[in-house]
Amino acid sequence: IVELSKRVQAIKPSPTLAVTARAARLKAEGKDIIGLGAGEPDFDTPQHIKEAAIAAIRAGFTKYTAVGGTPGLKKAIISKFKRDNGFDYTARQILVSCGGKQSFFNLTLSVINPGDEVIIPAPYWVSYPDIALIAGGRPVIVEAGIEQDFKITAAQLEKAITPRTRMFVINSPSNPSGGVYTLDELKALGEVLLKHPGILVATDDMYEHILLSGEKFVNILNACPDLYSRTVVLNGVSKAYAMTGWRIGYCGGPEHIVTAMENIQSQSTSNPASISQVAAETALNGDQSCIGPMVAAFKERNQFVTNALNAMPGVKCLLSGGAFYAFADTREAIGKLYARGLLNESSDIAFSEYLLEHAGVAVVPGSAFGSEGYIRLSFATSMANLQNALGRIAKMLS
Ligand code: PLP
Repeated sequence: IVELSKRVQAIKPSPTLAVTARAARLKAEGKDIIGLGAGEPDFDTPQHIKEAAIAAIRAGFTKYTAVGGTPGLKKAIISKFKRDNGFDYTARQILVSCGGKQSFFNLTLSVINPGDEVIIPAPYWVSYPDIALIAGGRPVIVEAGIEQDFKITAAQLEKAITPRTRMFVINSPSNPSGGVYTLDELKALGEVLLKHPGILVATDDMYEHILLSGEKFVNILNACPDLYSRTVVLNGVSKAYAMTGWRIGYCGGPEHIVTAMENIQSQSTSNPASISQVAAETALNGDQSCIGPMVAAFKERNQFVTNALNAMPGVKCLLSGGAFYAFADTREAIGKLYARGLLNESSDIAFSEYLLEHAGVAVVPGSAFGSEGYIRLSFATSMANLQNALGRIAKMLS
């Protein structure tokens, strides 16, 4: 048997994709399963975006493009950054990749050497630590539980920084917690970072448009413009425009870093799909009113799911400020079920398995996101599904 690389032995497959796959398998076997594991909008890609892609195919726009993205899409991204965020970038500071995941992958491989530390607040998006590990880096997890609204403090950040710290990752609105940092909170974090000029800031703004509390989007660069020369702003069309399958992510940042990221991309995937790039350009340049109805639906579901969870014994949940997930503290419920001998261990993984087996509801255990004792429920599914699923969980816990 050929031995696998240390690199691949250090990582695990994405647990969120694994839950979705397991739920699909049970469903295919005829079991009545409601999947709340999905990390993608349940809406269709807006029609005008699809039409642009169909027209691109008909026009023969089906060949290689520039590795870092077409001039048209880069221009659309530059305008988007200016319009929505007030950031100025040139085309050489922009890179288009095959999804937000590849953007983060390119970035991490461009700046992390073996042994370098990457500060990641938990709960975190599942891929940050594993991608850091692929690069040989050391994820340094800073925990923020429900008691602190899932947001780390400046003091916590300060404490986590060492001479080996190379990158700090911030994701607001957050997958999985739904937490959204305020401008003042970002300022406080930014002030700590200003004292440590060797640290690169990666701000993952993937859920920028899925804001559920009516506030305006801000990121750490709005709060601390002095970080511009060492911040990479990551974003994409996957969540805002229901375009997860098209695989387009993008970023803006310092030219030498973006060029390095492009070099990595040129030796791995080359350009993202030409057709998807046309679709993304249309999404960014076109009528933005397609986002509103999706956000309105997420708001209604957010309220419903949070209320339903808080009505259950031993469950606590905050109303999400953004994204489309509820991140529930189920520590007490898990303890009770375990004490009654219903779980084989006192863990969120055992609890999630119990929910799948006995309630037919698929959720993702919090430990997948670095937060034990929690579960993530995606509300990117219909109200009918949510009512049914939460009714089943409530019945099981009562
Ligand atoms: N960043 C966050 C916080 C996410 O939740 C996701 C997707 O789940 C991504 C990035 C990556 O998105 P994409 O599908 O564009 O790779």
